[in-house]
Amino acid sequence: CGIVGVLGNHEAAPLLVEALKRLEYRGYDSAGIATVHDGRLDRRRAVGKLVNLSDLLVHEPLTGKSGIGHTRWATHGAPTVDNAHPHRAGPVAVVHNGIIENFRELRAELADAGIQFQTETDTETVAMMTQKHLDQGMSPADAARATLARLHGAFALAFLFEGEDDLIVAARKGSPLAIGHGDGEMFVGSDAIALAPLTDEITYLEEGDSAVITRTSLEIRTEAGEIANREKRKIQLNS
Ligand code: GLU
Repeated sequence: CGIVGVLGNHEAAPLLVEALKRLEYRGYDSAGIATVHDGRLDRRRAVGKLVNLSDLLVHEPLTGKSGIGHTRWATHGAPTVDNAHPHRAGPVAVVHNGIIENFRELRAELADAGIQFQTETDTETVAMMTQKHLDQGMSPADAARATLARLHGAFALAFLFEGEDDLIVAARKGSPLAIGHGDGEMFVGSDAIALAPLTDEITYLEEGDSAVITRTSLEIRTEAGEIANREKRKIQLNS
């Protein structure tokens, strides 16, 4: 239900949890974050309020200055830890708002290729398909974009990759997504409110856009694959 992302210069986990708190107003049943630290991708997830995730992080901390986070409002699959986001398939972790309408068809296709699913969620299909594209030798950005080209529905997505301390791929189709510009840092949020303490310089993705984000660069493409120039706006918010 809510998505956040950080490519920062400080520990990402506290920033992700703080940004998720600002999205609590949307409602949720579980939450989770993933980070990359020295190339290593790891995640923590908890059912219920964000305080449960915070408590888990006290006992099992996640280090790293890059990460993605999610508050889930279950649409496919019960609100359990296994079904909570980020969903992971090998070297990729995914957070997702909304619904992948054609996930059953994609899941059947992947199952035919021998891929085994761990959850009932539509989101896991996105992670599994991206892993398949990575296995075929695509770069992380190409793998994510090849997956995006196959998805129908209304959604926002953010991808984080093992071995990539400076990369988030994000996409918007029917569900808003804001990119926040910091000083040598970049942020992702379902809305600008989530990012208010971090930055007030926002680029909104438009319908069908995908973004390849690093700390120092932002490349946005339209659904047709053309480079898109989206304006950077100064947002006035009371944080
Ligand atoms: N459809 C996804 C799920 O059920 C995402 C739901 C959401 O927007 O939180 O896991």
